[in-house]
Amino acid sequence: MASAQVYPASEPARWIYLDRIRTRPGPFTNPDIFSGEQVAAAMETMKILVIGAGGLGCELLKNLALSGFKDIHVIDMDTIDISNLNRQFLFRQADVGKSKAEVAARFVEKRVKGVKITPHNCRIQDFDEDFYMQFQLVVCGLDSIEARRWINATLINMVDEEVEDSYKPLIDGGTEGFKGQARVIFPTVTSCIECQLDMHAPRAAVPLCTLASIPRQPEHCVEWAHVIAWDQEKPFPELDKDDPEHITWLYQKALARAQEFNISGVTYSLTQGVVKNIIPAIAATNSVVAAACCNEALKIASNCAPFLGLPEENYMMYSGNDSVYTYTFKHEKKDDCPVCGQLARDLTVDPAWTLRELVESFAARPEAQLKKPSLRAEGKTLYMQSPPSLEAQTRPNLEKTLTELGLEAGQEIGVTDPAFATVLFKFKLKFKP
Ligand SMILES: [Zn+2]
Repeated sequence: MASAQVYPASEPARWIYLDRIRTRPGPFTNPDIFSGEQVAAAMETMKILVIGAGGLGCELLKNLALSGFKDIHVIDMDTIDISNLNRQFLFRQADVGKSKAEVAARFVEKRVKGVKITPHNCRIQDFDEDFYMQFQLVVCGLDSIEARRWINATLINMVDEEVEDSYKPLIDGGTEGFKGQARVIFPTVTSCIECQLDMHAPRAAVPLCTLASIPRQPEHCVEWAHVIAWDQEKPFPELDKDDPEHITWLYQKALARAQEFNISGVTYSLTQGVVKNIIPAIAATNSVVAAACCNEALKIASNCAPFLGLPEENYMMYSGNDSVYTYTFKHEKKDDCPVCGQLARDLTVDPAWTLRELVESFAARPEAQLKKPSLRAEGKTLYMQSPPSLEAQTRPNLEKTLTELGLEAGQEIGVTDPAFATVLFKFKLKFKP
């Protein structure tokens, strides 16, 4: 019955052009072994996993279904919010409150006959390696760095050199306003998401002196109201970023300051955006990046053209901020990557720091970004976030300096974080002169 559904009689035209690409030999196919029929058949039985059914995910599901993939799974733990409807085009007003994965799957199945989409309304961390092992390709359309790091570490952990099927290519798309990227990771072979973590450095804060003395942009005035004026005047006991009354207070303060410095552009929605750190999602950026990701999936699955990741360039960045610019380059694998490398990474610290300062610094370090780090040195537990008994036992160490704890330059420390349970982040201490 499955084979009868492959080319529904009602829609033969839909696949004509796709089949011209995948069933004919091209300049990149090996003429000795190429079989167009086999390529098309393989794509139809191939299992592909999409992570995220939001702005990128809706585009990815639609594109993959229209590119000849027939067995697609999608994971998303979110439900549909009214604010999603301007770009997450598989959802309608009546769907508000329902599972994104389920609604998206049903919509695409209805529109593209013969495609099967299996929704999973849960977190990616709810599945184990056996689940991920069933797929041949994983495509991510996520807005969370943490989720990307988790799936990256999981797929790399799954690699067994003796088993070819254990290598799962990961295609990752991401957008931020008018900017975006598409990249392909071949676990253990090419640079991984953890190697590339510094591409997602936490946004640098505006220096306090700029806010206090010489604001130049409307955002500076909002930050001034948020950071300085609020603290001085305390109009409400605690700032609630979702309370319109609080945002209005900040907006009026920011507006007055902007007028004082002759700066235009302070609005209520800008205030809300800056305070809540909202980066606008732009529908067309999502579609550009999702299209690039989907084409990589088609190329990897059918071998109809060279794809990102092999042999060299593995990262495509797109920017629409200033006209249109794209650049594709090779991001190098790092020997000291905690996930795919072997070596400990250098960590420059001041020996006069307390352990607390060291622990807290891991959140801001672009190459680490760990919010709940637990630390061990050779033969010694420095600080553990859990279980509570161990936390209490190691807590006094937080106020000791690194010197007092007996840590020396050149010594290795191991860091773990509950968000990435399988990864041991190894660092080699270097003391600031
Ligand atoms: Zn890596």
